Amino acid sequence: MQEIKERIKRCWPGEILWDCRLANFSTLRVGGPADALIQPGDKASMIRLIGRLHEERIPWHVIGRGSNIVVADRGVDGVVIVLGRAFSAIHELETSEGHCISVEAGCSLARLLHFCSVHSLSGLEFVTGIPGSVGGAIMMNAGAWGGEISQALLSVELLDNVGNIEKRSLHADDFCYRGWQRPHGKIVISGQFLLHHDQESAIRARCQRYARLRAAKQPKGVANAGSFFRNPPGDAAGRLIEQAGLKGLRVGDAEVSSVHANFLVNRGKANAEDLRKLMYLVQNQVENQFGVHLHPEVLFLGRWEEQQ
Ligand SMILES: Cc1cc2nc3c(=O)[nH]c(=O)nc-3n(C[C@H](O)[C@H](O)[C@H](O)COP(=O)(O)OP(=O)(O)OC[C@H]3O[C@@H](n4cnc5c(N)ncnc54)[C@H](O)[C@@H]3O)c2cc1C
Repeated sequence: MQEIKERIKRCWPGEILWDCRLANFSTLRVGGPADALIQPGDKASMIRLIGRLHEERIPWHVIGRGSNIVVADRGVDGVVIVLGRAFSAIHELETSEGHCISVEAGCSLARLLHFCSVHSLSGLEFVTGIPGSVGGAIMMNAGAWGGEISQALLSVELLDNVGNIEKRSLHADDFCYRGWQRPHGKIVISGQFLLHHDQESAIRARCQRYARLRAAKQPKGVANAGSFFRNPPGDAAGRLIEQAGLKGLRVGDAEVSSVHANFLVNRGKANAEDLRKLMYLVQNQVENQFGVHLHPEVLFLGRWEEQQ
């Protein structure tokens, strides 16, 4: 263990959080430690870091706001890179195509929405209340109320694992429901969005409407990762779980929310294994009753034990 830490130190001159509990970086509040956690503040330092980690053959993973991940209780090998607030610049771009902005991947969706409404830019209001970063939203093709991030996305800047940057143009049909041909082993550095002008008051009104809809449908004040399962084609995972009578089902402190059945929540002391066991129970019951297999929308990160 000491040896890997010495090698990590050689890769990064700045602050390193050692054996950092990832529960603190995940909205589900579960997960063991990463050997090291690093939060680069800009593109140049990120490029240097990735290049050095590659040379030292140290595994790394990138996360944003941790709102769509379940981290294993045994933690994660190597370095977890968090793209946070220091990596959240927004620039307006000159373009013939319309009103275009470039947004760094660590920018929160809330900050992006605030920028859009102040600058009278419309097209992303549907992300109101999604607690992720721009990088995470692009990787997940986050969406709500019929909108998806890909609809406004023109291009992304990607960093590969040897430190090269590529700008990739994208089209809505490159994406699918909560996904796309995710570039394996690459980091989203920024996304370029095409938006249109509207009045600030109209944009704010739409955001407020979406916030009210969300507040009425989703659990509040309890740790979760949003919808736990993808909706199967033509149906809703929440409807199937509720029809199966599973609202309120618990494993330890992990519970199927009684407000919205597609939310698996942490009532306080759940660990990642409790959540995984609850997930299997839900999958089995729904499959037995309706013949539908529910696939998780959340992503599992770290050192998991084999399924028993
Ligand atoms: C209360 C609540 C409500 C939610 N509602 C919705 C909703 O309505 N619609 C919806 O789609 N989602 C929803 N989510 C899920 C989640 O917020 C979104 O998927 C969000 O976009 C994830 O962003 P993140 O920064 O938290 O990503 P993370 O959870 O940190 O990461 C998600 C994945 O993206 C990868 N990743 C993150 N950043 C980068 C990057 N810069 N480069 C490469 N890979 C990266 C990570 O490795 C991981 O695989 C909700 C979650 C919560 C807690």
